[in-house]
Amino acid sequence: MDNRIIATYGQDPWKMTKDVLEKAKLEKMITKGALVGIKPNLVVAKPAHTGATTSPIIISALIEYLNEHGHNNIVILESSWVGDSTKRAFKICGYEDISKKYNVPLFDVKQDTYTMKSFNGMNMEVSDKVLSLDFLINVPVLKGHCQTLVTGALKNMKGCISDREKRNFHTRGLHKPIAYLNKVIKQDFVLVDGICGDLDFEEGGNPVQMNRIFCGTDPVLMDSYIASNMGYKPYDINYIKIAEEIGVGSSDIDNAEVIVLDKDESIAKPSPSRKVQKLSQYVNAKDACSACYANLIQALARLDDEGLLHQFKNNTILIGQGYKAHEGSGIGIGKCTSGMCKTIGGCPPSTPAILDFLKKV
Ligand code: SF4
Repeated sequence: MDNRIIATYGQDPWKMTKDVLEKAKLEKMITKGALVGIKPNLVVAKPAHTGATTSPIIISALIEYLNEHGHNNIVILESSWVGDSTKRAFKICGYEDISKKYNVPLFDVKQDTYTMKSFNGMNMEVSDKVLSLDFLINVPVLKGHCQTLVTGALKNMKGCISDREKRNFHTRGLHKPIAYLNKVIKQDFVLVDGICGDLDFEEGGNPVQMNRIFCGTDPVLMDSYIASNMGYKPYDINYIKIAEEIGVGSSDIDNAEVIVLDKDESIAKPSPSRKVQKLSQYVNAKDACSACYANLIQALARLDDEGLLHQFKNNTILIGQGYKAHEGSGIGIGKCTSGMCKTIGGCPPSTPAILDFLKKV
């Protein structure tokens, strides 16, 4: 595990995936002939644009990358949440097509046998197929969760246990079992789909176009970075704190080496999601870049959680390249609004930076 996070922004998930994998030199981490497991997030049978599931484009690019580097012994594994069918999710989310095209089997963990594993006295029924892997690549979605605030690399391992164990996890309060599960199952590489995740719910419904992909080897660090992208501090998420305490990884994003390969220059489009529409009524955007706009929406969502949004009037937060030559009294987000009397720089400014700034104006 190292402290590097390799990130890129844009609208071409295929190229972005290949770019971050090349930079990370993933192929060198895998021994020849190894059985490689790819664990996406297909919690429900909904396509990726709903904000719930891992993009099939990213998975296809990952498989192609592995094949190009001589790694052909691959399996895609998942278990959708209790009550939904993994097979249906494979079909609806486009994974059956991937399986046919690349000759990669799909494995439904719900149909597996399990072995009881234990950490700190907590027993967990873990998929035998997952335990048989030589190398596990986790491909979570950057998104919110109604109970744990965010869901990412650590929580995505819940798809590697029996449905009975998933129910037990909820009874035990989720955070501790999620952290402990990551002592039992080691994920070797994390590739985060931050193209379009949900603001609040793991099952989607309020998608935000975030236009980013990032990867690394430390799941605690990756989840801390996910939390930061959503305006939380790592320790706001209890399972991140527990996972760090028991030695799964480090939450120290301040000292992480974040390598950004490309910026996103696409212009943000209004999202049809009701929650995003509600938050965007405070914003006056003129040609705002997608990543910049997404960081602002995440910051506004956190302000809303804290009951602080009412202090802003409609259309008073300015963002976008259309403000480059403007001067005035508005509240500006990003270096394009440097002519405003209250403004935060950055291109794009991060969600935590926007949040701190808006709390002080
Ligand atoms: S500051 Fe301006 S140029 Fe930079 S990301 Fe934001 S909108 Fe785009």
